[in-house]
Amino acid sequence: MSSLIGPVPAVAQAPAGASTAAAKPARKLLIRTWGCQMNVYDSGRMADILAPLGYAPTESAEEADMVILNTCHIREKASEKVFSDLGRLRETKKARAAEGRQTVIAVAGCVAQAEGAEITARAPWVDIVLGPQTYHRLPEMVARASRAAGAVIETDFPAEDKFDHLPEARASQGPVAFLTIQEGCDKFCSFCVVPYTRGAEFSRGPEAIIAEARQLAAGGAREIALLGQNVNAWAGEAQSGAKWRLARLLRELAEIPGVARLRYTTSHPRDMDDDLIAAHGDIPALMPYLHLPVQSGSDRVLAAMNRGHKADLYLRLADRLREARPDIALTSDFIVGHPGETAADFEATMRLVERVGFAGAYSFKYSARPGTPAAGQPNAVPEAEKDARLQTLQALLREQQDRFNRAVVGRVVDVLITGTGRHPGQVAGRSPWLQPVHATGAAPVGAVVPMQLRAAHPNSLSATMAHQESAAA
Ligand code: SF4
Repeated sequence: MSSLIGPVPAVAQAPAGASTAAAKPARKLLIRTWGCQMNVYDSGRMADILAPLGYAPTESAEEADMVILNTCHIREKASEKVFSDLGRLRETKKARAAEGRQTVIAVAGCVAQAEGAEITARAPWVDIVLGPQTYHRLPEMVARASRAAGAVIETDFPAEDKFDHLPEARASQGPVAFLTIQEGCDKFCSFCVVPYTRGAEFSRGPEAIIAEARQLAAGGAREIALLGQNVNAWAGEAQSGAKWRLARLLRELAEIPGVARLRYTTSHPRDMDDDLIAAHGDIPALMPYLHLPVQSGSDRVLAAMNRGHKADLYLRLADRLREARPDIALTSDFIVGHPGETAADFEATMRLVERVGFAGAYSFKYSARPGTPAAGQPNAVPEAEKDARLQTLQALLREQQDRFNRAVVGRVVDVLITGTGRHPGQVAGRSPWLQPVHATGAAPVGAVVPMQLRAAHPNSLSATMAHQESAAA
């Protein structure tokens, strides 16, 4: 499951190809993105595809000639927010139409895939509904929508590889870039819609990934995060016919000039092979950070969730990863209150958390997603019980996160500069463990600067630049 769940509205970045659009009529494009980093990546690629048609980014719905809501179906609340957003867009579309301006409204992503018919029934002012596997067909859909009386719907899983149909030029994403290498999932966890909305596991070939990474590095990316719903299940076939696994790909990517840092997300415990664990110890560019969802510490619940592994496998993986890379930060996902979860099952989750010690986690109450196997199960846990368990779990996870953040204070670490800080004269960046860091001083965006971590705050770390330390000494 993708990890960064929750509404994270994002606006399309200016695509690299925007300048080529100068000859086209100026149009404005607003993309709002919910959910995981895969959706953030997809939004960027949709902006890339539409740039040659003359669409330049805007943050204003009133200005936008086209609005794309790139949606997430993991939580019920996220899809409801899409419908409220659509309600507001209906008014904007009407107001623009009164001024003679057309607005194309598109719903993309997993809500589109799972609830295409419901969207057009509940919001007939939507012009385009497209699933995650068809966004390369957007230009054709936009043309059809401009002519059509009803909505254009594309939510099948086409046989062609959508990545083959995307423009080669990638938008400059700044010092941190995302690169999708894998999509879909064959695991069918009981609570998850991804296998139904994103389809079967698909891995891009290594040559295309390496070429895209080179392009990103040439555009200024220093840190590349490889994305996939099951990223460590990646098994790319090279043009030679050779099968590559993720560790080999990481080793190749680490050799690209300019690439200082690599990450990958989101992983499944069953796909952590020996070579990948070893890679954490022998690829310096691979950051000491791994998001590895476990969901529950109870074997009974893990079986009911169809996770395909036991708690013990997870504990052994945590130990082996720490042997390979002793400073690795482990983060995870948890669901409490899966149908049938008893107090003893929940205790097993608490024991697993205590034993592993996490640097961060996403934790949620179980909520039924229509069409998933768990949604039909009768033995639901009462809401009040779910609430109480979630609070207990989150208190422990928060305490562990604080402990982890405090433990790195005093260390000198490399910080990747990502921008300016909130206060004048400050720079902002991120530590090897993905913590936001701010420090007084100047350094260019994209520089990797040694800093001494000085204090842990609730959401960030403050630091001083290490060279200032030595100058003062
Ligand atoms: S592994 Fe399970 S939770 Fe993750 S995407 Fe696949 S079905 Fe969903």
